[in-house]
Amino acid sequence: MNQLKSKFLLFFILLFVAYLLAGCTQAPQAHTEFVFGTVCSINLFKQGSDERYQALFMRLRELDAILSANRDDSTIAKINAAAGITPVYAEKEILDILGPALEFAEKSGGRFNPAIGPLVRLWNIGNEGATVPKKSEITNALKIIDWRSIHIDHDLNTVFLEKVGMRLDLGAIAKGYAANEAAKMIHNWGLQRGIIDLGGNILVIGSKEPGKPWHIGIRNPEISGGNSIVSLHVSNISVVTSGVNERFFIEGDKQYHHILDPKTGYPAENELLSVSVLSADSMVADALSTTLFLLGTKKSMSFLAEFPGVDAIFIDKAHAVRVTKGLQGSIQILDPSFHQNY
Ligand code: ADP
Ligand code: MG
Repeated sequence: MNQLKSKFLLFFILLFVAYLLAGCTQAPQAHTEFVFGTVCSINLFKQGSDERYQALFMRLRELDAILSANRDDSTIAKINAAAGITPVYAEKEILDILGPALEFAEKSGGRFNPAIGPLVRLWNIGNEGATVPKKSEITNALKIIDWRSIHIDHDLNTVFLEKVGMRLDLGAIAKGYAANEAAKMIHNWGLQRGIIDLGGNILVIGSKEPGKPWHIGIRNPEISGGNSIVSLHVSNISVVTSGVNERFFIEGDKQYHHILDPKTGYPAENELLSVSVLSADSMVADALSTTLFLLGTKKSMSFLAEFPGVDAIFIDKAHAVRVTKGLQGSIQILDPSFHQNY
């Protein structure tokens, strides 16, 4: 009798272990790869498959190969190498991004600047051995970060940079475009749920469960990889953050981050630690996060009037958190050292 009991017990234990193992193999896991110089992950939950993830990441790598300013074989590198010499054939993807990028440049009075490349290269932020450049080097770079000297020929599909030494840098907008592209593929497969996270450039598809939104956290912008200090509930939206702690170096007692002010040639300095932008269009959210960071809270609030349906969260050095009208009452502050300002 005792033996029978223990056999039953063993059977149930094995059944339980089998159940757990089955649970493990089916557990929906995000697929993660290093693309665009950052950690990118996509989670399609139960509808994820190797085939789908492979197709998505193939597209992301393809975009990186065209758009990267940091590799010698990209189309952007070819356009840059031909600056002042000749127009270069550009893929549809480049033209799709460059058009809106020039509009953001125009609208922001040149704060958002896709021709910022020479300054980015000079500062070399996020790479080994970055130091504060000489004043004369900055003055020289400022002369050639002229976005009005970017010429697009829509008949011949070419881009020409008029001045020698000019360099395109789409780092502030390319990941948003890529997130949109990945989302398009997911929609085309008829899937209604997923999370795309391209180094913090987030796009959520659908909701967590029917009627239940996704939970998104905004990290403490004072600490690299810090805890979430703000939480919000969202569906079908992109949330993109630009802040002081994404890429930086410290020299003396000063921190130099990677969002450069085209007016001064130095990292943008105002009251802000970070700006997060919410828009259904991830490219808009990406370009705007950088633009609003450069503009500061006050100017951003009026600037956003031109972008209906776009919301933003501003976190400043005094630990005040401000949100646009559309987000009033819908964020939670998780860290008591920060407070919401109205
Ligand atoms: P991240 O790419 O880290 O998410 P952003 O979207 O804010 O952050 O983009 C920052 C990048 O954009 C920089 O690394 C640089 O390549 C580029 N950049 C820097 N300053 C500007 C600017 N004023 N306008 C447009 N792009 C910029
Ligand atoms: Mg951006």
